[in-house]
Amino acid sequence: MSEHQPSDTSKQGESMSEHQPSDTSKISRRQAMKMAGVAAAVMPLATLLTGRAAWAQEKLSMDDPMAKALQYHDDASKVDPSIRGGTDRFCHNCIQYTGDPKGATGPCNIFPGKLVSSKGWCMSWVKKG
Ligand code: SF4
Repeated sequence: MSEHQPSDTSKQGESMSEHQPSDTSKISRRQAMKMAGVAAAVMPLATLLTGRAAWAQEKLSMDDPMAKALQYHDDASKVDPSIRGGTDRFCHNCIQYTGDPKGATGPCNIFPGKLVSSKGWCMSWVKKG
């Protein structure tokens, strides 16, 4: 904490500078940035602890720029096997897939914040050990 910030939050109202909001229910820009930094640090830790991407929520679109770059398709059977490297390569048996292999979708380490189709595929596919 900097010298300008009190470490005891109960004294914040007394010693805040003119640039700080006097209403303690308001979050200063600095506090918001600190919280964002903590969240960014905690999420990968949660992933390590749970083995799953804790922030994954929305399904990956095939129109996503990175998905396009990696030729992601949510139905691997529609990808030319010569491009795909075989017919047995799916997200559910890829090392980057951290979801339930029997589920319809799951998190992928390559696309944090998104869910990929378990029957999908992309160029980053690597056989799960
Ligand atoms: S890295 Fe693996 S799990 Fe992720 S989209 Fe590509 S093939 Fe699917």
